[in-house]
Amino acid sequence: MTMQRHETIRKPAAPGDAPNLRDYDATRAAFDWADAEREIDWLPDGGLNLAYEAIDRHVAHGNGAKPAMLWEGKNGEKETYTYEEMRRESNRFANVLAALGVRKGDRVFTFMERVPEIYFAVFGALKAGCVAGPLFSAFGPDPVKDRLEDSGAKVLVTQPELRAKIAEVIPQLPELERVIVVNKNERSKEPLAPGDLDYGALMREASPDFALIGATRDDYSLMHYTSGTTGKPKGAVHRHNAVIQHYLTGKWCLDLRPSDVYWCTADPGWVTGTSYGMSAPWTNGVTQVIYEGGFNARKWWQILQDYNVNVWYTAPTAIRMLMKSGAGLPQTFDLSSLRFAASVGEPLNPEAVEWGVEAIGMPFHDNWWQTETGGIMIANYASADIRPGSMGKPLPGVHPGIIDAEGNELPDGKEGNLAVRAPWPSMFQTYWRQQERYDSRFVNGWYVTGDEAVRDADGYYWFIGRSDDVINTAGHLVGPFEVESALIEHPAVAEAGVIGKPDPIAMEVVKAFVSLKDGYEPSDALRRELTGFAREKLAAAVAPREIEIIPSLPKTRSGKIMRRLLKARELGLDEGDTSTLEED
Ligand code: ATP
Ligand code: MG
Repeated sequence: MTMQRHETIRKPAAPGDAPNLRDYDATRAAFDWADAEREIDWLPDGGLNLAYEAIDRHVAHGNGAKPAMLWEGKNGEKETYTYEEMRRESNRFANVLAALGVRKGDRVFTFMERVPEIYFAVFGALKAGCVAGPLFSAFGPDPVKDRLEDSGAKVLVTQPELRAKIAEVIPQLPELERVIVVNKNERSKEPLAPGDLDYGALMREASPDFALIGATRDDYSLMHYTSGTTGKPKGAVHRHNAVIQHYLTGKWCLDLRPSDVYWCTADPGWVTGTSYGMSAPWTNGVTQVIYEGGFNARKWWQILQDYNVNVWYTAPTAIRMLMKSGAGLPQTFDLSSLRFAASVGEPLNPEAVEWGVEAIGMPFHDNWWQTETGGIMIANYASADIRPGSMGKPLPGVHPGIIDAEGNELPDGKEGNLAVRAPWPSMFQTYWRQQERYDSRFVNGWYVTGDEAVRDADGYYWFIGRSDDVINTAGHLVGPFEVESALIEHPAVAEAGVIGKPDPIAMEVVKAFVSLKDGYEPSDALRRELTGFAREKLAAAVAPREIEIIPSLPKTRSGKIMRRLLKARELGLDEGDTSTLEED
């Protein structure tokens, strides 16, 4: 495959405002996880509690009055919480749980919008030694039931409208003992369902001091169900030790500094929203913006401007939606505070990396990781040149490789399975109640990620596709990402999803589905034009044989293109697990 098709974006050799990771090569050569203790001056010798390190530690060091959270509700309400207030609220919630008889290791789930109370509940649960599991608020009753049932959650913290949405499944969950309802609008208080508990009343009674339940580094902390892009979501379980990697990646990959205002657009229902919406930012002592509302291009630029955001972490789908509304729009806002912008969750098309330069005066920095890895593994760093379309280079201490089916490492330039030498601090510890499945992900000391990639001679990693999505056409392996990236360079194309369609002669042929930008209409002429366009950009074997224009691509609620669904629909097959499918 042709790896680099876009020009390298160079970084200044000696930036005036030197980033946290000034010399990637030197740091990587010298760093091992055993050195983490030296690199992180706050690491305690014995127990480790993620919530304490993220919140209380700052209070203990005299920074309690510093704002930790600047919250904006979807109707414009604003609330600010200092580190000290976060400490007190999370302690109160830990006391609430303890008083309810919740014990170490019990699962405490949340099903809430992005309101401040979700952060108090998750940190409170961690302080009480529980395993916290945040669920995305847009789920319907069935996905919520599946996850609560599978995890055996004992407590659910939710909100009135969300409680109503899942009312029918609550009685079907024998392990669920308590439902705690957070009603932010005290005046319009609906009566609680019988047996439910009122968050406000419990918290008023609870003490703001709590003696932390000792957690060892290996105690479970959070569990997240994967995005369900490739099949039924799995409950990846993490441990407190992950905080080491959260902190260091926040510093090295996102360039977080204690004086920063930071905005992560991910919901706590997905791992990005906890690792990089709770742990990494607050262990790094930043002030974090949390916006409850959903995507809106104008509103998002407004937030970046009004809160003077310095570091912004978002996702490819959001960037493509911002691109759809044009680079002119951000230019009408004052984004002079912004210093670093990063992206995760899906491959980031080179077009999108470069659009950053035009729209916000800097490229988007792509990085790669998964629910299972718990933290960033491969990244584009503030100090390092960017090869647009590449995921970047491994985090110091992380050792990925490209391996074949037997677990043998392949040389540079050879495509294969992306794997990582186990372990690393934020590595998942099990798939909940599916230990065999967990074990099956490890071969020869490698954790096999399920993604295909290739490494170039300079150590940059290039994503090809998920192993399930890679297409075999007439003996060539084709990654959907390469084809999709070429198609979205056409001015009419907003998004593209590419699949392999079974073919009697070629085994599979490449078929592309595209959605159009505003102002373009589907037509045969446009389809022909796109076919010609793709043939100019791609090798003959790789260019799509068929292109179909559809109104929008099926995506998970976290914004990932579900190619398996495009394929199932194309072939008239069963759609499989669609619990995370976004509804139009
Ligand atoms: P499931 O495992 O349930 O199918 P999922 O893999 O989408 O869902 P996540 O753990 O949320 O669940 O996503 C991780 C995956 O997202 C990666 O394995 C990879 O396929 C994709 N991904 C994340 N970041 C990047 C990136 N920077 N470039 C390319 N792909 C990425
Ligand atoms: Mg996955």
